[in-house]
Amino acid sequence: MVRCLQSYRTNRKELPVETDTEKESRDIPADLRRRVLVEAGHRCSIPTCREIYVDIHHIEPWAKTRKHEYHNLICLCANCHRMAHDGKIDRKSQYLYKANVRYVHDKFSQLEVDILLSLSRELPGFEIAFPVFNLILINRIIAAGLLTLRQPSGGTMQFGMDTSPRFLSLSAAGKKFLEEISAHEL
Ligand SMILES: [Zn+2]
Repeated sequence: MVRCLQSYRTNRKELPVETDTEKESRDIPADLRRRVLVEAGHRCSIPTCREIYVDIHHIEPWAKTRKHEYHNLICLCANCHRMAHDGKIDRKSQYLYKANVRYVHDKFSQLEVDILLSLSRELPGFEIAFPVFNLILINRIIAAGLLTLRQPSGGTMQFGMDTSPRFLSLSAAGKKFLEEISAHEL
């Protein structure tokens, strides 16, 4: 079962009768479903569970949003899915679990995640000065195009190279990535 089993049990009486079109739109498109499953390695996203029989869950309920959006979908097993609907795994925890599987899938380091999250809390255009010799440590988020690197003019030359720090800020792709992981909820 890879469709969100909404909590209709408790509020079925209040819901209008579902038309065929509505029933169809409740199915998550195959490409999106595959992306969420692959991101989680076809396992439950709760790290202490990792069950292999999974559903796709809408963190913000489908009954409320009526949309299937990547940032709002998480791979959960039937037990964890039930706990999420019963409020035993709250929405913020679900966003955190979703972000964790995303980082693991993208193979970002803790340092890279910390840099992205600290930039997400600053005003647009904010820059962090980063030592040029250590850029290798954040190579994955640079290669993924999530940062813009600015090299100051008139930098310090040492060992035949410009050793002045590079100024890091979020690129458009970086902003999109943070939106997708709902960083504002973390
Ligand atoms: Zn589970």
